[in-house]
Amino acid sequence: MKLYTIDTGFFKLDGGAMYGVVPKSIWQKLNPADDNNMCTWAMRCLLIEDGNRLILVDNGIGNKQEEKFFRHYYLHGDATLDSSLAKHGFHRDDITDVFLTHLHFDHCGGSIIREGDKLVPAFRNATFWSNPDHWKWATQPNEREKASFLKENILPIQESGQLKFIEQRENISFTNNIQIRFVHGHTDAMMLPQLQYGDTTILYMADLLPSIGHIPIPYVMAYDMFPLTTLQEKKRFLQEAADNQYVLFLEHDPLVECCKLQITEKGIRAGDTFKLSEI
Ligand SMILES: [Zn+2]
Repeated sequence: MKLYTIDTGFFKLDGGAMYGVVPKSIWQKLNPADDNNMCTWAMRCLLIEDGNRLILVDNGIGNKQEEKFFRHYYLHGDATLDSSLAKHGFHRDDITDVFLTHLHFDHCGGSIIREGDKLVPAFRNATFWSNPDHWKWATQPNEREKASFLKENILPIQESGQLKFIEQRENISFTNNIQIRFVHGHTDAMMLPQLQYGDTTILYMADLLPSIGHIPIPYVMAYDMFPLTTLQEKKRFLQEAADNQYVLFLEHDPLVECCKLQITEKGIRAGDTFKLSEI
């Protein structure tokens, strides 16, 4: 199995929303805000070459919406999905599987592109993976989460016939080297791929732990639908990761790709930080 980081660029989100109940006097030291209180976040995806499959985990915000939409998110940085794939010798047509942790626009927006007046899959040879509960949750959204589930990112996947669902069973195998973990606090039935990479276990944290600054247990995003569930899930996963020295892959941290955890007097905190390519 070979692993590659796929950077798709940076965007900005409100710092207060990202840190929930944590006051700005504390979080601004972790990720300094601009004049509008916005902080920079990565949209960092993972490419897994596993046997004859080339699996892309999440795919960033994409480019199909109008300027009016993107104006809110201040996209910046040089990397794009295509340039990052090309850096490792791949093209989007090589992707066999697109694994969507969940259907928020900053995770699945790259799934669909505009071709003339049609919306079509950006990965024409790939199967797209979601699960029944999350699909239903995203296509019949509640009013609080509705702005994150954009129809144009989601419905054309199903219309293309390239959508498949993963069975919702904890630790279900996706390949011999990849198991799926399910969490329900950020949104319903988000999926975290857990990889066995030689002797190392790597957990793709998606929005259970967007950045290294979110490691202290109460640092839960205001975007989360069920913050107390997130709290319990974070406790369980971070303890398991610290006990077993997992590598955590961070999708949104602007600087840090991967970290390990250590147990301190204050609780679980970040240990070593490094790039995926250094594992
Ligand atoms: Zn999300």
